[in-house]
Order: sequence, then structure tokens, then C-alpha cells
Amino acid sequence: MIKVCKFGGTSMADGNMMKKVADIIKSDGARRYVVVSAPGKRYGADIKVTDLLYRCYDEVAQTGKCGESFDKICERFRGIVGELNLSMDIDKILADTKEEIEKEKSTDFTASRGEYLSARVMAALLDVPFIDARDVVKFDKNGLLDSERTFELTGDALKGKKNAVVSGFYGEDVNGKVKTFSRGGSDISGAIVARAVMADLYENWTDVSGFLACDPRIVDNPEGISAMSYKELRELSYMGANVLHSESIFPVRAGDIPICIKNTFRPMDEGTMILPTSKYRYTGKIVTGIAGKKNFSVIFIEKSLMNSEIGFARKVLSVLEKHGVNFEHMPSGIDTMSFVIDSEELKHGVLEEILEDIRTAVKPDNLRVFDEIALIATVGHGMSRNVGTSAKLFDAIARAGINVRMIDQGSSELNIIVGVDNDNCERAIRAIYEEFFRKGPSFGL
Ligand code: ADP
Ligand code: ASP
Ligand code: MG
Repeated sequence: MIKVCKFGGTSMADGNMMKKVADIIKSDGARRYVVVSAPGKRYGADIKVTDLLYRCYDEVAQTGKCGESFDKICERFRGIVGELNLSMDIDKILADTKEEIEKEKSTDFTASRGEYLSARVMAALLDVPFIDARDVVKFDKNGLLDSERTFELTGDALKGKKNAVVSGFYGEDVNGKVKTFSRGGSDISGAIVARAVMADLYENWTDVSGFLACDPRIVDNPEGISAMSYKELRELSYMGANVLHSESIFPVRAGDIPICIKNTFRPMDEGTMILPTSKYRYTGKIVTGIAGKKNFSVIFIEKSLMNSEIGFARKVLSVLEKHGVNFEHMPSGIDTMSFVIDSEELKHGVLEEILEDIRTAVKPDNLRVFDEIALIATVGHGMSRNVGTSAKLFDAIARAGINVRMIDQGSSELNIIVGVDNDNCERAIRAIYEEFFRKGPSFGL
């Protein structure tokens, strides 16, 4: 039995937390390979080491030298090593790191040093080998994970090692430069290691007792989810449930490895099991979870007889392709078509150029843009089994006095997405949660 354990930022926040982590690892001999994040927040107003590193990069870019932010990082790591009573020469490691940051002058390299340092500390604490992700996690020429090579190199590096600590969040590109995943990416690193050793379980340790039915910062004390499928995970994490990075699913899916989300503060809590969709059994719940994401724009196109105009969609899609813009959803009617796009992609005049090109390409009767839209995903395999789910959902939103700006029921029947104004995002999530989780006897029938 092999378990790969990833510990997130809060779990690595200080020496005391790292001791807890070490106890968790030592309490189960199957917990052989460990992936760690950079130290996160110790208290609400604290700053994550990764955020300090991004600031550090800005300082280096301006002055050529590490400044105040790097001093704060040094203070944190010296404090941790002191608290843990480790004999490692942290001053030398920090001095070398500073020199490299100033030499490399790269955002990704600088940001990656939090994971590099915390993995070195954790390896010293556990007295096991440290594996630098740079040597085993490789990106291809398009900047995407080179999965095959990565699994092979990681597997080879761990072969014959009973235990090891691997740094999360980064790898190396084809030019030999350090490259990071997007924020929260140590979850992907953990999944990579799990796949590389064909682990029996990928344990993802964080600061909540599993995947909750919605973000606990939006709904007070939401219900926990005991089991969910890969598909549900992907839909919810992509739509903002950032307890697990939405791309962590791909490496484990390739090996059918289950994920368990666990709480470092309450290791005995059961947590959430995330299972291959084929092994997932219907739990009797209509809705598994709800998640929301803000700041989308909807480009709405109307033209009579659009449906009979051959190549209409292709022409519009070519415009988006020409501008290198992705769309998230494409709800359409007989004479209407909408594209939901992350507003970030439409900045700096891109939107205006796209609108102009759409006008030229398809000569719409009506072309409009709605901004500041939040998308809310209500997800669950149970939804397709229960009649009237969408009626309940829309009723709940209407009762809360919220205007629905867009609807998209994904072809998967697993997901209903509604678009509301950004300002209504939290209220709509609460209304849907109340409807499906707190409403009493009719729930689950
Ligand atoms: P880590 O540093 O361990 O990777 P993250 O901060 O990335 O932890 O993820 C855990 C946090 O995700 C929780 O503290 C919680 O605030 C937030 N979160 C958002 N949506 C959910 C959800 N549906 N279930 C649980 N936590 C959620
Ligand atoms: N430390 C990185 C971040 O803050 C990666 C991670 O924690 O997963 O985004
Ligand atoms: Mg995280």
C-alpha cells in the first residue's frame, strides 16, 4: 500500500504545523512520499510565502536586488528551523537562494523558492531524501506538462526510496528554466507523484475536513461531502471550489487513483473521497456541491435565421481564435448565440476588436455585451435522476429576488450553470444551498 500525501500552505505555516505534519506522516507507514507547499498564512492578516516571493520578484525587477520581502522570508524560515531544532545550515541555503533569485530574474523561479525551501526543511525534519521537482517535473515546448516524461522521471527518482519529500508547484521547461503551475498548483504536483508511483491513494491535506458542499467563506458551516466522482470534482473545482486545483484530476485519472481530502488540524475526521467516476456510487443526494466564479463577460449575438446560415458559428469562433480568446460556455437559441468569456481576456481593447470583427464576419441584427457576470455551478450526478431539479433551483434564485442573466445546462447532465450579476453571486449560492441542503423532508427524494 502506497499513499502520496500533499500538505498545503496552512499545514506548512510554521514549525508547530510542520511537527503535526511529521506526526501524521509517521503515524502510517503507507504514507511514503510527501509533496509540500510553501508556508501559507499563520493567521488572517499574515502573508503567504509565495505572495512575499512575488513581491520579492518585483523588488528585484526594480532594483536588481532582493529587498524587504526576501528578509521577511528569511525570518520565517529561520524561525521554522529554530522551532524544529534542525541542524541544517539554513543561512547558507537562504544566501544561495538570494543569489540565484538575483541572477535568474524570473517570476517563476522566484515564486518557486517557497516550495523548494519548505521541502528541504520537511525532508530534514523527516530525515528522508529531498527530490527537487525541477529534476523530475518537465514541461513541453508549449508550456504544458510533459506527462509521460514527468511520470517516468519521477517514478525513477523514487524507485528504491522508501520515503522522500518532493517540492510542489514547479518543474522545468524545455530551456532548463524553472516554471510554475498556476496558483494552488502543488495539488497537481501531488497528483503527479501519486501517478508516477501508482499510489493506492492520493491524500491531499488542507485546513478543512474535506470538500464541502460550498465555500465555507460564503455559507456558514456547509455540509461535508463524504464521496464524489472525478467528474464532479472537476466541475466544482473549475468553477471556483479551490480546495483542490481543477487540473489535479488529470494525472490521477490516468491511473484511477482515488483522492482523499483530509484536515491537518483534525486528522481523525473522515474527509472526502474522490473516486473514478466508474467506481462512484450514487449517494442519494440531488446536488453534490455548488461553486461560483466572478468576472465573466457575455457576448450576445442575435440574428434572424442564424440557424440556417451555414458556417455562422464557425465564423464567430474564428474571430475568437484570431484573438487567442477562449470561451467557457456557449449557450444558444434558435436565433441567438452567446459566448461567456473570462473578462480578463477581453481587456486592453481586445473586446472592441472582437466586436468589430464579429460585425464584419456575420452582420448580426443585435450585438451586446453583459459585464460583471458571475457563473454559479450546481453540480451532482443526482440531478439527472430527480425530476424538477432545475425548477427548484430557479425558484430558489427567484425567491431571493435575483435576476438570472444566463443559463447553461451542460451536456453532461451533471451541471446547471446560471449567470447572475457579480454582486448577487454569494446570495445566489446561499439561496441554492438553502434549497437543496437545508430545506427539510423533501430533500433527497
Ligand atoms: P491549501 O493551502 O491546503 O492548499 P487552499 O487554501 O488552497 O488550501 O484550499 C482550502 C480552502 O479552500 C479552504 O480553507 C476553504 O476556504 C476554501 N474552499 C473553497 N471552496 C471550498 C469547498 N467547497 N470546500 C472546502 N473548502 C473550500
Ligand atoms: N504556494 C503556491 C501558491 O500559493 C502553490 C500551492 O500552494 O499550491 O499558490
Ligand atoms: Mg491549495
